[in-house]
Amino acid sequence: MPLRYDLHSHSTASDGTLAPAELVAHASRQGVNVLALTDHDTTEGLEEAFGAASRAGVALVPGVEISVTWGGGTIHILGLNIDPLHSGLQQGLAGLRALRDRRAREIGIRLEKIGVADAYEEARRLAGGGAVGRTHFARVLLERGRADSLPKVFKSYLVRGKPGYVKEQWATLEQAVDWIRKAGGQAVIAHLARYRFSATRQRQLIGEFKECGGEGLEVVSGSFTPAECHAMALLAQRFGLGATVGSDYHGPENTWLELGRTEPLPPGCAPLWKTSGWRLYEGAQGGYPLRLD
Ligand code: AMP
Ligand code: MN
Ligand code: MN
Ligand code: MN
Repeated sequence: MPLRYDLHSHSTASDGTLAPAELVAHASRQGVNVLALTDHDTTEGLEEAFGAASRAGVALVPGVEISVTWGGGTIHILGLNIDPLHSGLQQGLAGLRALRDRRAREIGIRLEKIGVADAYEEARRLAGGGAVGRTHFARVLLERGRADSLPKVFKSYLVRGKPGYVKEQWATLEQAVDWIRKAGGQAVIAHLARYRFSATRQRQLIGEFKECGGEGLEVVSGSFTPAECHAMALLAQRFGLGATVGSDYHGPENTWLELGRTEPLPPGCAPLWKTSGWRLYEGAQGGYPLRLD
């Protein structure tokens, strides 16, 4: 049986709803053999996840999803197989979390103006000490009956041009890739097909990313159609990027998406875990090497 990989997921350390240990237990139930926890701009969930992974027999890949401003918009770069203790990486992430908190205050002020009281305090409470994001504000707005689904709340309140949107200057592409590489990991462009870039802009991003030392492309994402996966596979092959698979799971509330239930990697893709020669262990140090398929 080939191993089942899911290299993009979130916990309560950022905007997921399962605690790291619950996420790992759920991954195990779903038959995931190799799981990456990739919270937004934080690695806080990894310690708990490693403990749970060694109990559940899941190989945990330490990861992070870094917020980047590129070409005037926000994109996400995954750092996989990182050393979470690396100080340069941690300094960079701490800076991004400070920006998140400043942005959250500003979102709170904007929402106050349209009659949503105390949204900042409530969003912080929902974040439970983790990195605060728009998803927490979306949950506040849902609770207040402003819309009946998370995607609808985003569309009406939290995207560009809407009352709760605040533009932020995140890390540069070069910074994000540099932090990841110095922490021993591989940088991967997350959910490229979601950015609605033209083919030219996609190529430009990949070109700059490769120049910075980026190595991977998320070829299969939970939000991609089979046609999008196919297009990403062609890009990965054409530009020599290692392919990854990740659901971008945020918890059981998002019923349209499940951990480990993604399209298979299209044939002909070179998986990043092979091109980068990952050695995988179940749980923390001292676990058993997993056979690489
Ligand atoms: P942030 O990094 O705080 O700006 O929030 C980005 C996160 O918001 C993403 O990782 C998703 O979890 C969530 N998100 C963004 N757009 C949408 C959407 N249209 N529907 C549901 N969730 C979304
Ligand atoms: Mn998210
Ligand atoms: Mn993302
Ligand atoms: Mn994500």
